[in-house]
Amino acid sequence: MTILPAVERYEVTIPVVVVGAGAAGLCAALAAHEAGAEVLVLERDPVPRGSTALSAGLVPAAGTRWQREAGIEDSPEAFAADIMAKAEGEPDPGEVARVTRAVGPALEWLADAHGLRFSVITDFRYPGHSANRMHGLPGRSGEELVDRLREAAETAGISILCDAQVTTLHAAPDGRIAGLTLRRPDGTEDHLGCGALVLACNGYGGNKNLVRRHVPALADALYFGHPGNQGEAILWGEALGAATRHLSGHQGHGSVAHPAGILITWATITEGGVQVNLQGRRFSDESHGYSEQATRVLEQPEGIAWTIFDARIAGIARQFEDFRQAEAAGAILEADTIPTLAAVSRLPEAVLADTLAEVARLKAEGATDTRGRNFAGSPQLSAPYRAVRVTGALFHTQGGLVVNDGAQVIRRDGSAFPNLFAAGGAACGVSGSRASGYLSGNGLLTAVALGRIAGQAAAR
Ligand SMILES: Cc1cc2nc3c(=O)[nH]c(=O)nc-3n(C[C@H](O)[C@H](O)[C@H](O)COP(=O)(O)OP(=O)(O)OC[C@H]3O[C@@H](n4cnc5c(N)ncnc54)[C@H](O)[C@@H]3O)c2cc1C
Repeated sequence: MTILPAVERYEVTIPVVVVGAGAAGLCAALAAHEAGAEVLVLERDPVPRGSTALSAGLVPAAGTRWQREAGIEDSPEAFAADIMAKAEGEPDPGEVARVTRAVGPALEWLADAHGLRFSVITDFRYPGHSANRMHGLPGRSGEELVDRLREAAETAGISILCDAQVTTLHAAPDGRIAGLTLRRPDGTEDHLGCGALVLACNGYGGNKNLVRRHVPALADALYFGHPGNQGEAILWGEALGAATRHLSGHQGHGSVAHPAGILITWATITEGGVQVNLQGRRFSDESHGYSEQATRVLEQPEGIAWTIFDARIAGIARQFEDFRQAEAAGAILEADTIPTLAAVSRLPEAVLADTLAEVARLKAEGATDTRGRNFAGSPQLSAPYRAVRVTGALFHTQGGLVVNDGAQVIRRDGSAFPNLFAAGGAACGVSGSRASGYLSGNGLLTAVALGRIAGQAAAR
């Protein structure tokens, strides 16, 4: 990943250039444009997609008008406390406060100024959140989110140059970014000057070497994020002397349908489902969270588990486009009895029956099992049952460039680069250094909140 000296004169210089057209880059572009700057977004793919399009598109926010309308009491402080609890105090409290305060107003801005039709999810809650605060668009899909953001940018007249991979940054001796080199699919290259640069090209999940270095436990796991996220922001930052933090932090997921390769919402677990291994036995406290569950599933025979739930839970899960696709693909198996469930999943019937009887007893007693899962208030699983064969996967990385209040990238000595900003997966997130620190929604939280902050600051 190269850094070159600034060239003497650029034929074209754009006041704000954004690298990457996912949620972070498009929010940054919209904010910079609104603040009066001319903006150009550079995207390596033919169409903006990124990991944003692969996500469920759910953005956590506290104190929003959608929550108030639904009678949900919440605050940025309560949200910040949940983030700190999940990551056991590792994230920077200042950054946590900044993004939890900024994300609610950012969603209301996207709704009011750009017509994105958010609503709050009220029928299930992800582990670790003390209030219902996940906001999504009507289809509850990330593709819808990135498409609506791209349309908003196009409507605003923002230029998005696709098939334009940024390969090199040009830096002056004082660390000011003067310009960059971009490569087109036919191999031709262009130089472009910039007044300010926003790095919104996510983390390094698609770069096997970096995954092996920072998250060795998932080096050979399925990567379920966007392959174009090669870690350039971090590599450029390191070459420039930028501070990085929590590079081993990441979001895993313990419930990706296999071999269909479709995300199965964790609502299947939070609403009362369980996971068993190929021996028909439970192996973990699934309620901790889907991120750390990736490694637990991969530790099981063949790296496989079955998520077992029922028709009621399937009704809740069906609001997600991914789940509907999994049903259409035949990945969600159905059974009227436990013996049929064992037969369709090829799990040992006697062991599976014992496992589910034990789960039923724990639920009836509202008890906590030996692994620590508390079944109090969890509705019984009842026929007809559902089962889906799943594996663990790496979704995205959470470590990255350290930024200040204005999303400006910081050097190792604590000073700020004059015109370099980072947002979304390019910046250090709020999950700390471990998979278990990832609170559901931390990914789009920093994409939307820091994206807007970075765009506003870059325009200044
Ligand atoms: C399956 C899945 C489900 C998820 N579900 C959720 C969820 O429900 N809620 C949540 O909060 N988070 C979720 N996440 C995480 C979330 O998707 C990411 O944290 C978020 O999308 C990051 O946004 P971003 O804009 O930083 O990156 P991206 O959306 O990945 O965008 C980065 C863009 O930069 C482009 N790019 C990269 N390098 C270059 C380059 N050199 N030059 C030009 N362009 C470049 C890429 O092509 C890409 O379009 C999920 C992730 C996955 C994989």
